[in-house]
Amino acid sequence: MRRARTGNDPGGGVFDTHLHLDQLPAEAQVLGEAWEGALVPGLDLPQALRARERFGADPRLRFALGLHPWWLAPRGALPPDPGDDPRFAALGAALAEGGWAAVGETGLDRPYAQDAAVLAVQGRWFDAHMALAARHRLPVVLHCVRAHGLAQGVARSQRDVCGVVHAYGGSVEEARVWVGLGWCVGIGVSLTWPDAHRVREVAAWAPWDALVVETDAPYQSVHGTPRGEGEPAGLGAVLRALAALRGVSLEEAQARTAATARRLFGGGGEGDVSRTAPVT
Ligand SMILES: [Zn+2]
Repeated sequence: MRRARTGNDPGGGVFDTHLHLDQLPAEAQVLGEAWEGALVPGLDLPQALRARERFGADPRLRFALGLHPWWLAPRGALPPDPGDDPRFAALGAALAEGGWAAVGETGLDRPYAQDAAVLAVQGRWFDAHMALAARHRLPVVLHCVRAHGLAQGVARSQRDVCGVVHAYGGSVEEARVWVGLGWCVGIGVSLTWPDAHRVREVAAWAPWDALVVETDAPYQSVHGTPRGEGEPAGLGAVLRALAALRGVSLEEAQARTAATARRLFGGGGEGDVSRTAPVT
């Protein structure tokens, strides 16, 4: 089941490392021929199981399992600790059954947490997800909003686990720390927004082997399209902006980011979590 290519579609061989395919309108839940792969992130266990059940027949799709901070508790509310929450035990059991390419989404979101006690519990959930990822030798999909210092503290304590900081929105200094810890930055549609100066700086700087691209569709949208109506085809706009910024061809930007995505998520359930190239 494939849709005809639209004017926005990328040229071919692209990999979207953060596509909520199951959250798109039903008629948009198809991946065009240009996509070599995509990672469908987990929001919570029931959603992740449904997504894998629904799309698991497409070998280009990888699936992640985790409990996103927004699904952990309502905005501003104190979530239970992972050790006291049966949802954490259920995540561990489902991961042990195999078939997952990554652990996540998990992470820290300061505006959503609204206070330090909530943010601290989010940090313990991130730490617990990292331990699961270590056990199953999987990469982590991190959602991090204005909490990079705290998240890097957790990442530093578990150096055998890496992953991607998705929809990267931090500074280039924070990106240097992430890449030094072996993590990748996920550059998203904010690269197309006129005021996204920090993201452009990070996208211009990041080494190719630590740089992946994503749409986060439908939650984020390219400049000029309504918020919350993002489409997979937005990856074309991200790649064009990235290629222009780095002075390379579109084909090179596609090939380089897809190669990094493949290394991170391409292991068919047992991803290679270590970066081998020297860190710059
Ligand atoms: Zn997401």
